[in-house]
Amino acid sequence: MARIHDLLDKGHTFSFEFFPPKTEEAQATLVATLRELESLNPSFVSVTYGAGGSTRERTHDLVVGLLRTTHMTPMAHLTCAGHSRLDLAEILVRYARAGIDNVLSLGGDPPQGLELGPSELNHASDLVELARAIGPFSLGVAAHPEGHPSSRSLVADRAHLATKLALADFAVTQFFFSADHYQSLVNDMADLGVTKPVIPGIMPITNVASVARMAHMSGASIPAELLARLEAADESGGAAEVRKVGVEAATELSQQLLDAGAPGLHFYTMNRSGATLDIYANLGLAQR
Ligand code: FAD
Repeated sequence: MARIHDLLDKGHTFSFEFFPPKTEEAQATLVATLRELESLNPSFVSVTYGAGGSTRERTHDLVVGLLRTTHMTPMAHLTCAGHSRLDLAEILVRYARAGIDNVLSLGGDPPQGLELGPSELNHASDLVELARAIGPFSLGVAAHPEGHPSSRSLVADRAHLATKLALADFAVTQFFFSADHYQSLVNDMADLGVTKPVIPGIMPITNVASVARMAHMSGASIPAELLARLEAADESGGAAEVRKVGVEAATELSQQLLDAGAPGLHFYTMNRSGATLDIYANLGLAQR
């Protein structure tokens, strides 16, 4: 299986993120999405993990299913929250045996209202160290361009990220809506002596209320000018017009990031293909 840090060494990576579906209907939507997005020949695709293990089997099955039944290179997300060291080791050993080489090591956010048991590993960096001891994985970590919402300060968050990224092979960012946030994160890492690839995460806005809620939870800010464009679109044309503006804004951001030297783009697809297909076409990537 291709290892993501080797792919990054060779050039830009273009990747898609999915979550394991809960229902048969959601499963059918994902299957259709995968079929459409596979035609774009992504460098890799990633599958989220429900903190505490709520998707333990479903994430495993989808990641291994992608490896065995498609031409795409999968990456499994894995989170520390609510797991013992042994639980995490078992999950990693099972991935290694199934031939999965790429893991995104995360702290994990429990779903709202869900109380998790104690976590034996406190931070994503501990999971990177555990995974390194288990197998020759290509290891990614999460980066938060505007700072992680629970961190003491941006300076402290950058210092923790630099330590974590130095242990890992690459980072994928939380979504953000201004290229300056990405550039400042990359510059801060370089000042701290870490130059591993940081792949920006792109979230096309297709619904103002839901993205505002997610942005609030993840610490991302929506620039006033973009919010005004989206609100005007909502008033003039409703959902279709919002989606059009969201795709335009994500295309502009993606192009700015590539022009600024980003090593690739990681699209948060929400298990739908439409917005990603449109941005790909706008960027001229569809023929890759
Ligand atoms: P960490 O690196 O552990 O950081 C968490 C906090 O602890 C930060 O404030 C950091 O500054 C601080 N910190 C780190 N190290 C130390 C230290 N040594 N001492 C003191 N403080 C420290 N969540 C899921 O549940 N499932 C997913 O599949 C998932 N996928 C994601 C994919 C991407 C690309 C991103 C960006 C996020 C994803 N998340 C996912 C969300 C993520 O789990 C949350 O943002 C979580 O709150 C933090 O994860 P982290 O890996 O950045 O944690």
